[in-house]
Amino acid sequence: MNTVHATIPFVDFKPQHQPIQSKLEQAVQAVIQQGDYVLGQRVAEFEQAFAQACRTNFGTGVACGTDAIALGLQACGISHGDEVILPANTFVATLIGVIRSGATPVFVDCDPDTALIDLSAAEKAITAQTRAIIPVHLYGQMVSPHQLLDLASTYDLLIFEDAAQAHLAEREGYRAGSVGTAAAFSFYPSKNLGAFGDGGMVVTREWIVAETMRSLRNYGAPRKYYHTDYGTNSRLDTIQAAVLSAKLPYLSDWNGDRNQTAQLYNQLLKPLRSQGIIPIENHSGHGHVYHLYVVRVTDSCPIDRATIQNKLQEQGIQTGIHYPIPCHLQPAFQHLGYQAGDFPHAEALCQEVLSLPMYPGLDQAQVLRVVDTLTTLFQLPSAEEKLCSSLTLG
Ligand SMILES: *Cc1c(COP(=O)(O)O)cnc(C)c1O
Repeated sequence: MNTVHATIPFVDFKPQHQPIQSKLEQAVQAVIQQGDYVLGQRVAEFEQAFAQACRTNFGTGVACGTDAIALGLQACGISHGDEVILPANTFVATLIGVIRSGATPVFVDCDPDTALIDLSAAEKAITAQTRAIIPVHLYGQMVSPHQLLDLASTYDLLIFEDAAQAHLAEREGYRAGSVGTAAAFSFYPSKNLGAFGDGGMVVTREWIVAETMRSLRNYGAPRKYYHTDYGTNSRLDTIQAAVLSAKLPYLSDWNGDRNQTAQLYNQLLKPLRSQGIIPIENHSGHGHVYHLYVVRVTDSCPIDRATIQNKLQEQGIQTGIHYPIPCHLQPAFQHLGYQAGDFPHAEALCQEVLSLPMYPGLDQAQVLRVVDTLTTLFQLPSAEEKLCSSLTLG
């Protein structure tokens, strides 16, 4: 295969933004003209619309997902002396949020097949100080709501969801953000719902949590110049709220598109199982919103992950690793006292995971090319050939 192909980027915003470009421009223009640049009606409208989309009651826009975790935990009453359970394999922002709330992070391992927090490991980590558990709906797949709610009610724990990768994800009849007392979302551009910059939100069923959030994000002042909380300045920009409001009606279709791409990857990648390439398992059917499509390059694979990534890159196919180092082994957090070997599944996943291109508008030909390029490395028949023969067989 010597034809020169266009690059397949890891994420491409063009297919998402081009069809609605005029709506996005109008949204930004309207804010510029109105001159309401911080908070205001547009932010309030988006907060309400997004909370409703999550099937919960209240939303409070903040500057980013990390702030949503830190301030959201604080608004739930978590502070010094409390232990908060979180998975070792998550984006480091989950950990940063816990530490900023003042609580003590307590890591647990994950399920090696789904990469989600192992709730039986979480149960073993519960102490008299444990106040909350943070399920991270990693890659766009929710942690089982039934199991979470069982655990939380047995041990009287607060559930705070990290839903930064799971906008509109569903499982067992629940939507991400509606399982726990509160949840954090990020609107970083590449998330399923992304702004033109940073943004985040805390959604909650509890009026009091939402009220406290409003104060915390606004210098801790429930009313002007009267400061009752240790707050900060962390608000969702009005311009970003306008952009997000314009994009929200398309989110469900974009997620559907991601889901179809994932189905195609799943089907085409089946022959590579024999080579040790194993997709992360989906236990939530169509409720998975595939922020990322991740495969494991397991021990039995004859080619190592770095080589695979380089060969794909040579062919213009961009991939990612989410994440290369588990939180408990990050240099900045050595004082927490964890070490290599503490969470074997999380540590193994960090060596194995490879994220393939995934975004709404990634077309079938591109998916075929990704899988074919991968397949060629193993000298197996190409996915295209396989698909053709299965189509002719009916
Ligand atoms: C992106 C992300 C965050 C943090 O969001 P920012 O908006 O980048 O601060 C937190 N947790 C997870 C799992 C994420 O993917």
